[in-house]
Amino acid sequence: MDTIIKNGTVVTATDTYKADVGIANGKIVQIGENLAAVGAKVLDAGDKLVMPGGIDVHVHLQLPFCGTVSADDFENGTKAGACSGLTTVIDYAIQTKGQKLMDAITARRAEADPKVCVDYSLHGGITDWEIAQGEMDAIVEYGIPTFKMFMVYRSQGWMADDGSLLQALEATGRNGGRICVHAENDDAIQMLLKRYGPQAKELGAYGHAITRPNYTEQEAIARAALWAEVTGGRLYIVHMSTGEGADAVWAAQENGANVYAETCPQYLLLDDELFKGENGHLYGTCPQLRKPVDQERLWTGLQHGTVQVIGTDTCTFNTTQKAMWEGDFRKIPFGMPGVETMLPLMWHHGVNGGRITPNRFVQICSTNPAQIFGLYPQKGSIAIGFDADIVVWDPDREVTFNWEEMQTNCDWSPFQGQSVRGYSKWTLSRGEVVAEDGKFVGVVGHGRFVPRQPWGDL
Ligand SMILES: [Zn+2]
Repeated sequence: MDTIIKNGTVVTATDTYKADVGIANGKIVQIGENLAAVGAKVLDAGDKLVMPGGIDVHVHLQLPFCGTVSADDFENGTKAGACSGLTTVIDYAIQTKGQKLMDAITARRAEADPKVCVDYSLHGGITDWEIAQGEMDAIVEYGIPTFKMFMVYRSQGWMADDGSLLQALEATGRNGGRICVHAENDDAIQMLLKRYGPQAKELGAYGHAITRPNYTEQEAIARAALWAEVTGGRLYIVHMSTGEGADAVWAAQENGANVYAETCPQYLLLDDELFKGENGHLYGTCPQLRKPVDQERLWTGLQHGTVQVIGTDTCTFNTTQKAMWEGDFRKIPFGMPGVETMLPLMWHHGVNGGRITPNRFVQICSTNPAQIFGLYPQKGSIAIGFDADIVVWDPDREVTFNWEEMQTNCDWSPFQGQSVRGYSKWTLSRGEVVAEDGKFVGVVGHGRFVPRQPWGDL
């Protein structure tokens, strides 16, 4: 064995037990008490937890969007994730109109492959169904079984009409893929933008909240879920932000639809009152921050299992980029940093807050994403034969978030000044220590593209 993590407590989605974990050639090869450490590097995890590394299935690194490019690139974004315990991220390769989706994937891989510091994959972003429909089976075969479709962003040329969405869902019932949707009703939002646009200066950033009411997400989720139900398709709702949306997903699951839902730390922990503050525009995301009642409903969903995954929707924009809004909420670059705070926030507010158990934490931040997205049984648990993607978690370590000390390229943090207890001591990517005490110590380019399997399910 090259490395042994000794004296720790292993936490998986289902079990908690004291054991040493032995690693060879990037894989977990032994789990047991008092493993002999002859010649191996020893990490002493006494008083610490040994968990599968976090898997963030929703990031946008160096994404050209809203007239700029998101500020954490594949190198820095994956470093930032590693610092706090993420060991896999899934980004997006979004085709432009008229472009082959496979060409978009090839181009995105050329950007990511030399830079990533932990393992990664891509979702195929379908914006031209006429072209993508003929490529879908081959892309699933290639190792990308999940596809993003947008029910919004008509003006950016990204929006899928219902006919395309129906057909794409139908196809996933045959090829084992899954359609991940950004669910908002574009027509309703466009109408509201037109109605409130003239008052942009008076409304300030809060105009963003007024023009994307909960029902715009609720309706789109219910519609997509119905399409999944009637086609036998496989659906995933990204960045679900509303209580009504969670109810719609639950209803669809009860009806037998194959649908899962993700929410993000910002929707569990921040609310739309922030838009009224001096720097309210910094918090502009799409969908937007909601109300405390939505946060409670989403937490309940995580507890009951009707919300299955935590992702971040990381799309870092710094204060200079955010300043492009010039006082008009319709021009805010949508997005926030997230990879570096996901696990500590979910541990602190979820586990320390008494809302979820450590096992459930592992499930929603690692095991469920691995299973739904076809990374299992390679990633997402601590077991023999799995990649040694491990976070050795110090539940007593206190950290106060301060962007100046963080890895992210962002010059502000949505959680600035907040203190959390619980943080990565060591993050291992395929057996290599890539972060220690919140600092990146790995090698740029260590990460690999990971082909994923179709038919991922819980
Ligand atoms: Zn996103």
